[in-house]
Amino acid sequence: MSLELTSPVSAISGVGPKKKEALEALGIRTVFDLLRHFPRAYQNRGEIRTLLEAAQSDEKCALVLTVGSRPQTVTLKNRKTITRFTAFDSTGSCEIVYFNQTYVASVFEVGNVFRFWGRVERFRYTWQMSSPEFEPLRVNRPLPDLFPVYPLSAGLSQKVMQNLVGSALASLDSLGGDPLPEDVRARAGICDMRTALYDIHRPANLERMERARKYFMFEELFIFALRVMSSSAFTSKACGIKMSEQLADMNAFFAKIPFRLTGAQQRAISNVIADLTSGRPMHRLIQGDVGSGKTVCAAAAAYFCVKNGYQCALMAPTEILARQHFADLEPLMSSLGVRTSLLVGSLTPSQKKKVHNLCASGDADLVIGTHALISGGVSFKKGGLIITDEQHRFGVAQREALSEKLNSVDLSGAPLPVHTLSLSATPIPRTLALVMLTDVDVSIIDELPPGRQKVSTFLVDESYRERLEGFMVKQVAEGRQVYVVCPAIENSGDEDEDCDLISITGEVISRAEEKKLKSAIEYYEDFSAGYPGISTAYLHGRMPGKEKDRIMREFAAGNISVLVSTTVIEVGVNVPSASLMIVENAERFGLSQLHQLRGRVGRGSCKSWCVLVSDSDSATAKERLEALCKTTDGFKIAEADLALRGPGDFFSTLADPSSERQHGQLAFRFASLCNDGSALDLAFSEARALLNSDPSLSLPEHESLASFAGLVNKPKLS
Ligand code: ADP
Ligand code: MG
Repeated sequence: MSLELTSPVSAISGVGPKKKEALEALGIRTVFDLLRHFPRAYQNRGEIRTLLEAAQSDEKCALVLTVGSRPQTVTLKNRKTITRFTAFDSTGSCEIVYFNQTYVASVFEVGNVFRFWGRVERFRYTWQMSSPEFEPLRVNRPLPDLFPVYPLSAGLSQKVMQNLVGSALASLDSLGGDPLPEDVRARAGICDMRTALYDIHRPANLERMERARKYFMFEELFIFALRVMSSSAFTSKACGIKMSEQLADMNAFFAKIPFRLTGAQQRAISNVIADLTSGRPMHRLIQGDVGSGKTVCAAAAAYFCVKNGYQCALMAPTEILARQHFADLEPLMSSLGVRTSLLVGSLTPSQKKKVHNLCASGDADLVIGTHALISGGVSFKKGGLIITDEQHRFGVAQREALSEKLNSVDLSGAPLPVHTLSLSATPIPRTLALVMLTDVDVSIIDELPPGRQKVSTFLVDESYRERLEGFMVKQVAEGRQVYVVCPAIENSGDEDEDCDLISITGEVISRAEEKKLKSAIEYYEDFSAGYPGISTAYLHGRMPGKEKDRIMREFAAGNISVLVSTTVIEVGVNVPSASLMIVENAERFGLSQLHQLRGRVGRGSCKSWCVLVSDSDSATAKERLEALCKTTDGFKIAEADLALRGPGDFFSTLADPSSERQHGQLAFRFASLCNDGSALDLAFSEARALLNSDPSLSLPEHESLASFAGLVNKPKLS
């Protein structure tokens, strides 16, 4: 039976319900998904060691050995079998054993040469390899140097995954035309998708791997550019809802705000009002560092819209953020006669129903919520404005779904696109914004409210460990709270990673270095064992959303003093008594990302600190981290990062590891490795040119591209 790319994984022989489920946990449903499940890294089997060398190391490695004796199988009392034989190279000889794999006896003929992969151990008076992997070495048939190591889920092994991908690769023939147009690929200097897919899974050598990486990096940037520019929000320069300044008394609004707006906030609000009254749909992004006061600008926009007789929806990426916005805004809004409701997943069905009814009847003016806003059952009577907070957390598809729900109609009944306003704390360097955001208007809040405390930032090494823990204890004793961020969730116990690996960028990932990485779970276990009196918890991206929310709520409520996590800690959540942020292995993070993390503290009146822990010897790493200690301006930091590392760091800030593969969501895997600004320029200019010639990608030659980029509803691959 021939496999198609669109076939479900269950069509692959050997995939039963168990494997299907394990694959599903990785987001893999179809053969094509499987091909898009890229290796995490590669084993280097091209580097051959001698028996002598291998025996002196405890790592797995590759050896080329000649079979020296006929395999003998013995059956043990418990009916298990052992098959053994000897094999040798110029430095010695070793015994090779396999358990319960009697078939190997017919594979190994005396005098034949194999490449083995495994660990050489001393066993009594000889060297021994236990169940090594093997491949016959044949003249004129070179073996690939690089062996893929995949991300796995429970119930899958590397071997199984390799075989499944192998079957999937056979279906590449059913890939029709390449989604990326040939002339675009030619100008970008990249290969076709079929070649890239083959090479990423089975790279014969480093050059092939590099070629595949280059393809996927460009593909990712190009699809991102297409999505950004073709989402209806960007294309419709058409008519929008025209609002009027006469209807909304902004002075009444300002009078209720307990502080004086900064100049930057006033400018952002004027920009928004100019957009809303222009008669064209607004597509504005308000960018400002954490704590710069974007929420009040959003509130002003909502007020203006409601007073003009339209409903407004404010969508936040997490329930805790939505609740926080509701708690902050509802009192203000109700004092201004704006009826505000909250719509989040954890409401009871009857509570939800009630809010749905208020939306549909027009009795809710402002609805604050999460994804629950785009679920079935929600409809608005007369929508006018959508605000998305921390906009990068949402996929285009989710924003579009919301805008469809809010769309109003003009007098003739034709649909009118709603206004959109996005808030983001991710500083996009101006130079990048020029390339990426030519079609969206940006207001930048580059001024913090007066009286803000600067977060003092320090760089320390391991020798400070004891003092650092003492400082944590002291902060906790004073009623403050501490965040600890670690780069890894847990150190993987995967056997196949028990060797140096080669990363997708061709660098060697040293096993010894990886083992030194602080893992959130280990840190949590060590710390809570060492300080049983301090309430400590940990949080990571693979936890169920409800559990994450619960822990975050407990932390916000002050019931948890020390929160150990990966970078998932919620953007924008306000925990005023959090005064200390510790980042372990700080050299592993981009500067912008560190800056975002630092923004989690210093949100209240207490003096706050950010401590970057790094033992890296690299001078550039030190220089980067020291730069962060000196400046607190997010835009300057983003610019510095761009200059030092290319656009990659910016993309890694955008990427949300926990959202990978969710429909319509962007998760940058390759672009985050990009250190080449010209690739980004090219991707955007190519996307723009393509959309100029075929705005809706409806020409037959663009059909596969449109479906691949997720720009049409029915994904179709072949
Ligand atoms: P962010 O831009 O990170 O979303 P917020 O809108 O949550 O920031 O504002 C952070 C805090 O600053 C809030 O408590 C808010 O009330 C306060 N704030 C906002 N603007 C001002 C201002 N102009 N003067 C004083 N405090 C302000
Ligand atoms: Mg905010």
